[in-house]
Amino acid sequence: MNKNINIIFLAIDALRAKKLSCYGYKRNISSNIDNLAKKGILFEDAYSCINHTDPSFTTIFSGKYPLSHGIINHGPRVTDIEVKTFNERKIKLLPEILKENGYKTLAIDWLWRWHKRGYDYYSGAKPQLSLHGFLKQQFRKFPFLRKLIRQSMVDKLQEKVFKGVSKAYEDARYVTDHAIKVIKENSGEKIFLFLHYWDTHAPYLPPKEYIDNYGRTKKRIEELFRYFTSTRFKEEFELFEKSVLEYKSAIISSYDGEISFIDYEIGRLIDFLQTQGIMNNTMIILTSDHGESLIEHGIYLDHIGLYDETIHVPLILTHPELPEDKHIQGFVQHFDIVPTILEILGIESNISFDGKSALSLINGSQLHSAIYAEEAQYQRKRTIRTKNWKYIHLLSHKDEICRRCGRIHGAREELYDLIKDPKEVNNIIEKEPEIAVTLKKRLDNWIEKYNYQEPTIETTADTYKEDMDKVEDRLKGLGYI
Ligand SMILES: [Zn+2]
Ligand SMILES: [Zn+2]
Repeated sequence: MNKNINIIFLAIDALRAKKLSCYGYKRNISSNIDNLAKKGILFEDAYSCINHTDPSFTTIFSGKYPLSHGIINHGPRVTDIEVKTFNERKIKLLPEILKENGYKTLAIDWLWRWHKRGYDYYSGAKPQLSLHGFLKQQFRKFPFLRKLIRQSMVDKLQEKVFKGVSKAYEDARYVTDHAIKVIKENSGEKIFLFLHYWDTHAPYLPPKEYIDNYGRTKKRIEELFRYFTSTRFKEEFELFEKSVLEYKSAIISSYDGEISFIDYEIGRLIDFLQTQGIMNNTMIILTSDHGESLIEHGIYLDHIGLYDETIHVPLILTHPELPEDKHIQGFVQHFDIVPTILEILGIESNISFDGKSALSLINGSQLHSAIYAEEAQYQRKRTIRTKNWKYIHLLSHKDEICRRCGRIHGAREELYDLIKDPKEVNNIIEKEPEIAVTLKKRLDNWIEKYNYQEPTIETTADTYKEDMDKVEDRLKGLGYI
């Protein structure tokens, strides 16, 4: 295959696969992504290896399982030990490999820290103005202010001056505009361009034209996300839950509205590539780092848990020399993406990936008989999912209570019959103990090879403190801290 091909990597954060028409969603909110799928290969059974952003992108771009690259938590919960492990293992990321192979590497992303490695150009999406962010800066400069200004005052001011909740990052329009600019500036180069769309991540506040009953819906969503970003989230959880259940349709329509918005912006990008003749010489990969649970399983507007809403992700690949309009069944996981890209490009590498090239899946063979995934950050769980079954278990009983909401999600061990119960609501662990034992054994065998020690000390990694400051304000806005 042509080795001089551009690569555009579209990541849509927190996009659940089943929310796209090409993955079976009944509402038509993704016509441009559906059309993109018609131009290439759609992997029906693609899964994330972990449920949070930092470790998931590290897997996506390293071809390694989280226990193998060492990053399992997200944002400020990433520990020094995790970063140390990641560095000591000398994990190489896709942009670094591609740069060595003549690519101009470009990214529009805001994760920074180790994620920016290997890029010739790395542009964080600009932060939105927020009172919390502004005050944080002031507190850093003038620590005595912290004593004078109480959290309740900050909340009141945020409400009055900034009219409540706002997006903590630039939107899809900005990402596409910026992408077009960057592509123009690099014409004549062989490019790898990573675009990180964020709008499907909480808070879901799409522009007016992407949502019905805009005023009413927006008001409800803002009310929900005020809880979400509150420092008293755990204490107010019952009130939050009550509102979530009451505003169910507003949640669905605003999340769907964000998908329509991103879809429109991806359509605009693809139109540009087509009119410029770039599409004929470009491979496009589209995926999400993890899905999203809107109201399912008692997990609201978040990606906690290892249920399919959270780990089943879209994966679409287009390439001028690969088949068009092809739906492929069979398990594929994020750690397979790098080996697949390298095989397509004919790049030899001595890295031992945990994933495998999915080209064999395209050609009809099975890639994996099961998928494996980790949950970190707010609770520590692990799963094995086969075609028929899903087994999930809690790693340590001290982690039983979710650190985010103070509730217990699921049970210490869960087993679901995915044929009879695809929504994973009836835990049949008591009824089918033998199946659970067999699956647990497979899961333990899979994990054993990583020789992984659970980190015990939790401190933010000093090495990345400086970059962390840049993302901290936005993490606050997203409800992580
Ligand atoms: Zn994410
Ligand atoms: Zn929780």
